[in-house]
Amino acid sequence: MPHPTRLLLAAALLLAAGCITPPTTTTYDLVITHANVVDVETGTIRPDQTVAVSGGLIRQLGPTAASAPRATRTLDAQGRYLMPGLWDMHVHFRGGDSLVTANRNLLPLYLAHGITTVRDAGGDLTPALQQWQQQIAAGQLAGPTIFTSGPKIDGPGAFWAGSLEVVTPAQISRALDSLQALQVDYVKIYESTISREAFLETIAQAEKRGMRTTGHMPYTATLAEAAAAGLDASEHLYYVFKACSSREDSITAAIRQSQGTARPIGLFAALPAVYRTYDPATAARTFRMLAERRTAVVPTLYIQQLLADLPTTDHSRDSLLAYIDPKLEATYARRLAGARQQSAATRAFNQLLGARFRSLIPEMQKAGVLLLAGSDSGASNSYVYPGAALLGELDQLVRAGLTPAEALRTATLNGARFFGLEATAGSIAPGKAADLLLLDGNPLANLAALRGPHTVVTRGRVYSAAELRQMLQAVRRR
Ligand SMILES: [Zn+2]
Repeated sequence: MPHPTRLLLAAALLLAAGCITPPTTTTYDLVITHANVVDVETGTIRPDQTVAVSGGLIRQLGPTAASAPRATRTLDAQGRYLMPGLWDMHVHFRGGDSLVTANRNLLPLYLAHGITTVRDAGGDLTPALQQWQQQIAAGQLAGPTIFTSGPKIDGPGAFWAGSLEVVTPAQISRALDSLQALQVDYVKIYESTISREAFLETIAQAEKRGMRTTGHMPYTATLAEAAAAGLDASEHLYYVFKACSSREDSITAAIRQSQGTARPIGLFAALPAVYRTYDPATAARTFRMLAERRTAVVPTLYIQQLLADLPTTDHSRDSLLAYIDPKLEATYARRLAGARQQSAATRAFNQLLGARFRSLIPEMQKAGVLLLAGSDSGASNSYVYPGAALLGELDQLVRAGLTPAEALRTATLNGARFFGLEATAGSIAPGKAADLLLLDGNPLANLAALRGPHTVVTRGRVYSAAELRQMLQAVRRR
């Protein structure tokens, strides 16, 4: 006689495979038939599947049967590829109240490029953003699901407007109180002026409150101490890169000693020394440490390369510039001016740095580091167009050595994993959010298939390619 737990297991497997048909009275909101479902976890295709959606959730997934389940709307995928919506894990909504509309008009750019979730990495438009979140959830505004840190935490006289400026433990406690009152999704720390002590104290206090932290890091701190304190993700590769130097300790000590002197050493001044002392064995140890500590990394390769190329690239005829409000485009001027002033040596170094950064990616992947795809698009980040820039990031990750499946995971399941939401989002399975992309080609074969999705579904709402084009047209410059 079969063991009862085996029977239960068999039933559970049947349920998981979606083989049990629902009662005939069920009418789904949406049923998609004959889809090649992209399993981002295993990197495989499940051919000829039916996906049933109601209440914004995937309810059923299984082989397409002779008669489709009843639905308000049925979509015959005709062998197209159905994958989970993309997550851009590093964007910004910012620039002050005069740019609220310009920022809101970026939302359709994300959707039109298949991005159904974004993580706002700190800004000064939190009240507006929270209003959009509510409107998007209520179906009154078309846009991706937004996770946000609210205002950044930094030191006194912080570079970014709206930052919470902290020095003492009491100030850090008050800053975290205010973020908890805003019900932010995590805490973003920035390093324009924050001290090493305040940085580590912020992570430790947030950890005690059960709040996730990510950040830039003051170069006076080491990655290992930040990870040990509980940092949940390192934004950009500069900080991971310093921890790949065989001289991290002496470089960090020199930076620390220079603070408060007439010539403090900043991040960019220290980078050449970090580059020269890069050590593969140290890098491997660092990546193992990040994997063990579950500290995620957001490489942002695309913006790094775009800024490295900025001095020699004319973006004035970019087709996507037509969707960027002129007031938002005006915020691009600062980086552009900086790029134009760069010396030939700096330009050459930035190219070398880009190549070295790419070389870290497959090593981190092999070590089991949680990689998150982020574009860093938003005001001030010149020509990093919302939506398209995430596709650029995925191309960079493949160029760096990831398989298309591994790259897709950084922009789907890994995003959900970072927020502890892998049971309810990030892939196509019953019980998960109905954030879906229908593509003409197989993205596991070539990420070019992500360009121009046939249909985008967010929280069960269907946007055809024609509707997405109309949404873009509505925010196009006159
Ligand atoms: Zn950023």
